[in-house]
Amino acid sequence: MKFICIGRNYAEHAKEMNSPVPTEPVLFLKPETAYLKSGEPFYYPEFTKDLHHEIEIVLKFEKMGKHIDKQFADRYYTEIGLGIDFTARDLQMKCKEKGLPWEKAKAFDFSAPLGKFLPVHSFPDLYNIDFRLDINGKTVQRGNTKDLIFKFDALVAYASQFFTIKKGDYLFTGTPEGVGPVKIGDRLEGYIGEQKLLDFEVK
Ligand code: MG
Repeated sequence: MKFICIGRNYAEHAKEMNSPVPTEPVLFLKPETAYLKSGEPFYYPEFTKDLHHEIEIVLKFEKMGKHIDKQFADRYYTEIGLGIDFTARDLQMKCKEKGLPWEKAKAFDFSAPLGKFLPVHSFPDLYNIDFRLDINGKTVQRGNTKDLIFKFDALVAYASQFFTIKKGDYLFTGTPEGVGPVKIGDRLEGYIGEQKLLDFEVK
C-alpha cells in the first residue's frame, strides 16, 4: 500500500505558503509506514519543532490501474474519507531552500493518519464536499472540494501515468488554507459535513 499525495491543490493554501498556483499537479508519495489509524495516538516526532496539520480529502482505490483515462477514473475509487498530511514544516522549508526532496518532512512514520471512509455514492456531489479540522474543539481548517484546482478524476489520471495504482492505495487530494502547528496534548477531530470521521490525540 502507498499514499499518493497532491500538494498545492487549493489556491488559498498555495498563497499562504508563498508558492505559485501550479499548472500541473504537484505529486509526492508516502510509504505504507506512514499509516496511522484514527483513534491511535500520534507521538510528536523528535526531529521537528514545527509539525503542521493539513486536513485533506482522501480517495481509497478499489482496483489496479495504470495510464487511467480521466473519463474512467471514477471507476477506480469507491470510498472517500479524511486524512492528515502531517508535515514537519521546518524540515520542509530547509529541503525547499536547498532544492532537495521532501520525504523527511512529509513521509515519516505515522505522518498519514486516516479516518473512517464513506462510499462514493453517499455523496450527492463530489465537488461540493464540506470538510474541516477541529483542534481542541476549535475549527482551524475548513475546505470545500469545489475549490480543488485539479479534480479527483484529473488527479487519478495524472498520477497513474507515473505510478501504478493498486487496490488499497490512497490519494491525498491536497489541503485548504489554514495549516498550522500542533502540539503535544492536542486533540484533532476531522469532519465531512457534520459527520466526524477522524479523531486522535497528539502525545
Ligand atoms: Mg498536503
